[in-house]
Amino acid sequence: MKIFDLLCVAGHRFEGWFASAEDYGAQRAKGLVSCPACGAQEVGRVPSATRFNVGAPQPAAQAPAGHDALALAQKLYSRMLDELLTKSEDVGTQFPDEARRIHYKEVPARSIRGQATDEEHESMVEEGIPVARLPIPPSDRWN
Ligand SMILES: [Zn+2]
Repeated sequence: MKIFDLLCVAGHRFEGWFASAEDYGAQRAKGLVSCPACGAQEVGRVPSATRFNVGAPQPAAQAPAGHDALALAQKLYSRMLDELLTKSEDVGTQFPDEARRIHYKEVPARSIRGQATDEEHESMVEEGIPVARLPIPPSDRWN
């Protein structure tokens, strides 16, 4: 019996019990592995930090999760982007001006997003304004 730490696409962490890694793979492929919190079938394995503290290391238990982890990371990333985009104010091309006003405390701090040219981005970084560039996948949700 193997216990895998699983993470669903919504970020719920839970344990799954399987006869073997193959059993896990087979059940997952059939859609039999789902999140107990939200029912999502898009789950992936995560390496467990706590488990290795309590017992002997079990390298075999966390072996071939690379592919799952990558797909999951991409999903979590797009989810994070979603959050970021829905919780920030779109100031469009006013972004550099607005970011400066916030940085120099001329206006109350808030999350903003928008566009900046390479030059504007560079000069904001030079001024020490915390800006991050995100490669945002094309989606009509955010237009
Ligand atoms: Zn879930």
